[in-house]
Amino acid sequence: MDFTGDGWTAEAADESAGVPARRERLVVVGNGMAGCRAIEELLARDAGRYQVTIFGAEPRVNYNRIMLSPVLAGEKSFDDIVINGHDWYRDNGIELIAGDPVAAIDRVGRTVTSRAGRTVAYDRLLIATGSDPFIIPVPGKDLPGVISFRDMNDVDAMLAAADKGGDAVVIGGGLLGLEAAHGLSLRGMKVTVLHLMSTLMERQLDEAAGWLLKSALEARGQTILTGADTAEIVGTDAVEGVRLKDGRTIPASLVVMAVGIRPNVALARDCGLEVGRGIKVDDHMVTSDPAILAVGECVEHDGQVYGLVAPLWEMCRALADGLTGKPTGYRGSVTSTKLKVSGIDVFSAGDFAGGDGAEDIVLRDASRGVYKRVVVKDDRIVGAVLYGDTADGSWYFDLLKKREDISDLRDFLIFGQAYASGGGQADPKAAVAALSDDAEICGCNGVSKGQVVACIEGGACSLDAVRAGCKASASCGSCTGLVENLLAITLGDAVEAGPKTLCKCTSFGHDDVRREIVAQAMKSIPEVMQKLHWSTPDGCSSCRPALNYYLLCAWPGEYQDDQQSRFVNERMHANIQKDGTYSVVPRMWGGLTNPRELRAIADVVEKYNAPMVKVTGGQRLDIFGIRKEDLPAVWADLNAAGMVSGHAYGKSLRTVKTCVGSEWCRFGTQDSTGLGVKIERMSWGSWMPHKFKIAVSGCPRNCAEATIKDFGVVCVDSGYELHVGGNGGIKVRATDLLCKVATEQEALDYCAAFIQLYREEARYLERTAPWIERIGLDYIKSRIVEDDEGRRALTERFLHSQRFSQDDPWAERAAGQAREQHAHMAAFKPIREEELA
Ligand SMILES: Cc1cc2nc3c(=O)[nH]c(=O)nc-3n(C[C@H](O)[C@H](O)[C@H](O)COP(=O)(O)OP(=O)(O)OC[C@H]3O[C@@H](n4cnc5c(N)ncnc54)[C@H](O)[C@@H]3O)c2cc1C
Ligand code: SF4
Repeated sequence: MDFTGDGWTAEAADESAGVPARRERLVVVGNGMAGCRAIEELLARDAGRYQVTIFGAEPRVNYNRIMLSPVLAGEKSFDDIVINGHDWYRDNGIELIAGDPVAAIDRVGRTVTSRAGRTVAYDRLLIATGSDPFIIPVPGKDLPGVISFRDMNDVDAMLAAADKGGDAVVIGGGLLGLEAAHGLSLRGMKVTVLHLMSTLMERQLDEAAGWLLKSALEARGQTILTGADTAEIVGTDAVEGVRLKDGRTIPASLVVMAVGIRPNVALARDCGLEVGRGIKVDDHMVTSDPAILAVGECVEHDGQVYGLVAPLWEMCRALADGLTGKPTGYRGSVTSTKLKVSGIDVFSAGDFAGGDGAEDIVLRDASRGVYKRVVVKDDRIVGAVLYGDTADGSWYFDLLKKREDISDLRDFLIFGQAYASGGGQADPKAAVAALSDDAEICGCNGVSKGQVVACIEGGACSLDAVRAGCKASASCGSCTGLVENLLAITLGDAVEAGPKTLCKCTSFGHDDVRREIVAQAMKSIPEVMQKLHWSTPDGCSSCRPALNYYLLCAWPGEYQDDQQSRFVNERMHANIQKDGTYSVVPRMWGGLTNPRELRAIADVVEKYNAPMVKVTGGQRLDIFGIRKEDLPAVWADLNAAGMVSGHAYGKSLRTVKTCVGSEWCRFGTQDSTGLGVKIERMSWGSWMPHKFKIAVSGCPRNCAEATIKDFGVVCVDSGYELHVGGNGGIKVRATDLLCKVATEQEALDYCAAFIQLYREEARYLERTAPWIERIGLDYIKSRIVEDDEGRRALTERFLHSQRFSQDDPWAERAAGQAREQHAHMAAFKPIREEELA
């Protein structure tokens, strides 16, 4: 493209003649991600050069489309995902015509005309119309209740449908379909995903990763039907179900079509621009008409169309360079993908189909649910699929994009960057430090490591400041850890001082709040809010439970627990279930029970018509289906048999799982059951930053699975191995070995000290696994193993606080305390529903 040709320098002539230049008129069709980003890039280069008008079909300001999934899932609101609000348009002199799509382009007269009849002239036109969802042409596709997943209107329609509950069918098991299914399922709908192919996300995942993903989604209650070919959407006045070609019919009051997208080329085609799969553009995003540019999902560059944001950012940079007279050129993109389903880590980049000469390096760790596959060809990475542990995704992607020779790293490649670069233990900070400046950190916003570092060096010393400054981590958030590490590397202590605020109500971070609570001897929530200048009158659902816990931990015996600052399960001392009834789990010390307890449980089940009793993974009996108003009576009956609350609902000690140990087992070296009972008697009732599980195994065969618990004891011939930081939940983590001790009493003392350190120093809602990964095992060893006096003090503080917390909450309620919580008509609003595990 010749940038000095027709149209590109028309105004310069006026300027040289001393006549005030009329700014060139740039009209943008499409107020979406690419259209607005192109203008942002342009403003950053030459803010005064163009007079900009943006037409948007949607009646909204520019928002982050990729965050529609978290909005649907209830993790964000629309306001959270606005990229540029009205002030941005106003401050930059941009005219926004929203809710009025452009209907025609007159290339000869250089005008566009909107559906409402508004005609605007342009010197440059930028088409950024994105894509249209593809609707499969089956009978019933136009029935009310059949929608796509593309914009905020679609999300509003899904939320309205989910409010009524019932069944939803999502057609399409790709990225979008699975995110829609996840959101609807979190909103309480019973979701079936129909996928034509045999593997979910088959364009991004291979069979093995697809299978793991399918299993994980099924475990969360979704029904996934692969090889499912839709024949018809059935219903008379509204959708009632989906009939498959094999004859099955799946009931549904909502059908979401997410089977693919097509570049929106209608306008371009109608005005005679060259169109292939998308609007054809050259390396400077110029179409077959030199006055018209196009960018985003609507374009075809070098035969490729793209459906992810990262390439759009590169296109926008090239476009802005061209529009400001410094053409650089776009050369196509290699893309990577992550699935935004919380708790499921999936990463895919490049080509994993392999082909001639390609070799696979595969790592499977079944117990951790980890699968990694790196495809190598001619000593270069050409593709990568990661499931379960995606921490090294950006490293593989960087090597792939740069076509680096990996022959020297090959033996360690699959173990990730830390191992491949010679370090035994993974140090996330060292890994980020080793990335090159142009390595991509934030895929959603196309921000490289160099740009993040420049932003930090330019004064951004908190995560929020980086988000505001260069947009890294401002979208799906999966790169937040990388950005935090870059902050730490670049600023050192300056950032460690507390860049992350507890919530939006305060500028203080968790650690600062805790420190101030002690330093200023603050003893109530209103006092903390007052003295630390809270910006809201009563806080929010994030800070209230955290403050309640921090005060409880700092002032055992003194602080008055604030029930209304607890999540609903803790307030009710039972787990609320999806039908509004509760489940009740009595404590069974170390997993032991007896006829009296079993009889009491059986009686409760009969007397209160509990529809189900279940043996939990933590060796207890869970009684389901108890009505709220019956809870006190149920507890009274269980109390009468000597049973107390199992705290199965709490951020607290849950269960101490044991094996039978030396008392019964041929292999047992110690009395693991007896030790488990002692540990549970010592630690029950203690409130924690998050739920906390313990296990004791009688020998290294480890039948109690102690190595995936927050604190695990494995008995060995010479004593007790103590393990910490395990997690068997969504993200499985095996424990780290803390140390070995010789006696039961030491095992108990070290356990108490570890719990207390966690209670005093972890942030609220941080489990031991991420806590240890954040602060490092060495630190914990230094406090508990190497510092005898410190350990004893921790143990003492724990035992002291237990003197005030080992009151059975059931007994208090059964005796009539806080009776109103159980009144039938009471309208208590849960602060937030939480996981019920
Ligand atoms: C739910 C969802 C989740 C996603 N998640 C991810 C993700 O995790 N990662 C990722 O990389 N990508 C993701 N994407 C894809 C990403 O959003 C798109 O690649 C990106 O939005 C494309 O930008 P664009 O500007 O080309 O199109 P859009 O953002 O769609 O913008 C086009 C705009 O043009 C408007 N328009 C169309 N015709 C006209 C007209 N005639 N006149 C005026 N305006 C018009 C449209 O209304 C729209 O607002 C996701 C998409 C969706 C829908
Ligand atoms: S862990 Fe060892 S002692 Fe315990 S039940 Fe298993 S084999 Fe027996």
